[in-house]
Amino acid sequence: VTPITEVLHDQLLELIAAAPHLHVLSRPSINLSEFRYFLSKEDTSWAQTIGTSPAEDVIEIAGRICYMSFGKSQSNKSNSEYISHLIAEEHESVLEHASWTFLLTGVSRAFSHQLVRHRVGFSFSQLSQQYHDEHKARFVIPEEIKSDENAKKHWLDLMNRIRREYEAISRDLNSEEINGYAAPRELRRSIRTAARSVLPNATETKIVFSANARALRHFLKIRGSVIGDIEMRRVCTLLYQSLYREAPSVVADFQTMMQEDGYPIVVQKKQKADKIVS
Ligand SMILES: Cc1cc2nc3c(=O)[nH]c(=O)nc-3n(C[C@H](O)[C@H](O)[C@H](O)COP(=O)(O)OP(=O)(O)OC[C@H]3O[C@@H](n4cnc5c(N)ncnc54)[C@H](O)[C@@H]3O)c2cc1C
Repeated sequence: VTPITEVLHDQLLELIAAAPHLHVLSRPSINLSEFRYFLSKEDTSWAQTIGTSPAEDVIEIAGRICYMSFGKSQSNKSNSEYISHLIAEEHESVLEHASWTFLLTGVSRAFSHQLVRHRVGFSFSQLSQQYHDEHKARFVIPEEIKSDENAKKHWLDLMNRIRREYEAISRDLNSEEINGYAAPRELRRSIRTAARSVLPNATETKIVFSANARALRHFLKIRGSVIGDIEMRRVCTLLYQSLYREAPSVVADFQTMMQEDGYPIVVQKKQKADKIVS
């Protein structure tokens, strides 16, 4: 017969959020016929590299417009060589013309707080704990706790209790005599605002963010190799892999490197080992 504590433990596992997932909601597109019309008016032409993505084309075109390096003035650099050159020359404002919108799930509020610190070239829309009832919230378990049975038990017990107390506080406050809110919406908001004060950093959130290629590169550069931050490393790896599929030239100077703890870091190829934040 399975001991009762193990049964309870199995039930508590449903408190754990699924792994982080990064959905690409929108990506750059390009109106090539309009651009070819512009080129014909200028009596010039563009030798387009075969197999590039719209994001890579937009970046190359924006760069070439700066010098009108079309027709006879176009060098024989491929699109990826051209973008690498822009990056090497730190002419990175050109990268701002390509942006994506992502939906990120399975991350903690602790993680999202770090994400929203990125002010330049990012936009955010995050699940509200004031409008959304969180009594069924799931929690993101840190990898360190997941792999330690004792710590995991303490953690699950606490998350379970927090969920129950959140519900209890919401019930306690849901009495019209003790609050004078006329609008039910504001009453609900006030109850959730008060109740959410017990939710931990580990509470799962969902966040949509849009960012341009320059801002995303900066994010990967400073966040991708912080050894002691596995959740951040996991998201950076997803982001890098996504960008690698979307526009490989934009992240050609980055790579992932597996670490001893079983999780990769994202690092710039030229970034020396001693620059990795440990
Ligand atoms: C390892 C690590 C540890 C951290 N620890 C802490 C911590 O303990 N406490 C804490 O509060 N934060 C901490 N942070 C967050 C960090 O300070 C930044 O707020 C966050 O990483 C956003 O980076 P950013 O400002 O470069 O990005 P963005 O806000 O996207 O800015 C991008 C770039 O634009 C320029 N820029 C933006 N705003 C200005 C401005 N006002 N003036 C001049 N230039 C500007 C800068 O060049 C900046 O790098 C940490 C970050 C890392 C990576």
